[in-house]
Amino acid sequence: MSSGEFCPRCGDPVPERADPLPGEPRERDAVLCDDCYFEDFDLVDAPERIEVRVCSQCGAVHKGNRWVDVDADDYTDVAIDQVTEALGVHVNAEDIRWGIEPEQLDENTIRMHCTFGGVVRDTYREERVTVPVFIARQTCDRCGRIAGGYYASIVQVRADGRTPTNEEEARAVEIAESYVTEREETGDREAFISEIKETDDGTNIKISTNQMGGGVAKRIVRELGGHVKEYPTLVTEDSDGNEVYRVTYAVRLPKFTPGDVVAPADDDGPVLVRSVRGNLKGVRLTSGEAYEASFEEGETPDARKIGTTEDADETTVVTVEDERAIQVLDPETYESKTIARPSYVDDDAETVRVLKSREGLHILPDGAETDETGE
Ligand SMILES: [Zn+2]
Ligand SMILES: [Zn+2]
Repeated sequence: MSSGEFCPRCGDPVPERADPLPGEPRERDAVLCDDCYFEDFDLVDAPERIEVRVCSQCGAVHKGNRWVDVDADDYTDVAIDQVTEALGVHVNAEDIRWGIEPEQLDENTIRMHCTFGGVVRDTYREERVTVPVFIARQTCDRCGRIAGGYYASIVQVRADGRTPTNEEEARAVEIAESYVTEREETGDREAFISEIKETDDGTNIKISTNQMGGGVAKRIVRELGGHVKEYPTLVTEDSDGNEVYRVTYAVRLPKFTPGDVVAPADDDGPVLVRSVRGNLKGVRLTSGEAYEASFEEGETPDARKIGTTEDADETTVVTVEDERAIQVLDPETYESKTIARPSYVDDDAETVRVLKSREGLHILPDGAETDETGE
């Protein structure tokens, strides 16, 4: 196009403009005079209204075609973001400046007063538009699935030959919750627990994916000992014909727990259990020596439980006889009895904590009642 000398719309003379750079498309209206050009010029292209979909359960916001977690107490900032994204400024405007003033009309309606300024054809132009924003409260897909009790795996917390202790059950739930929270914090909206249920045999935890169920079970065993078995059940086929499995992760905590006193089959005297991670470790109550089950025996050596640290009573030392013998009062009959003296009993001990069982009377080490997690 050669220099446009007259405006094609009104016929007024038009001052010569620089031709566009090679390759740059020429705008149709570029040949108009300023008056005709600005006659139907919109600096800002704004939608008539905007709807912000938010989840009334978890507060997630629908953006694009998916739900996203946002950290917002009210949705004004979210609404401002979405209005900003929806507004278009004319491509020819330069030095653009803008501001948005929200006006909250009611809980679900915000009026956005937007002011835009920019330089077009060397002229500063300013435009105001008002965009009403409606907050639509819905239920996101994730909350819908949680409400519907959806799950893809169950972690069953059980124990070998006993029911899990309250501490073990509480810890297992904590482990599951922190595992899932970690995943949620990375933005994974597929991560959730849909049910935690206590049964007579132990706790059942329903989790959103197989992978996370497996991860939780593994972590529970790593911390509390025991082992896991997986039982997949075919539940359905998905729309592509792939088989969909639900997996039960059966956690079996060890037969013994730290704080138990057991009598191993070797008949060398009772052992206070300190740890059941990997293999059972503890201390021999007759000598004070360390006890460790062999690798083959693992966490369940051939042993009988004869009590726990909670069954112990404090009693008086009558006399320390020598390195291997001590005389104490039987806490039930108050008779003096000479029993084995483990190495952890000091020469000047005045009282000791003893466990009375069918194996006899045995002295527990100090602090045994609090050392429940020991390694
Ligand atoms: Zn004109
Ligand atoms: Zn939600």
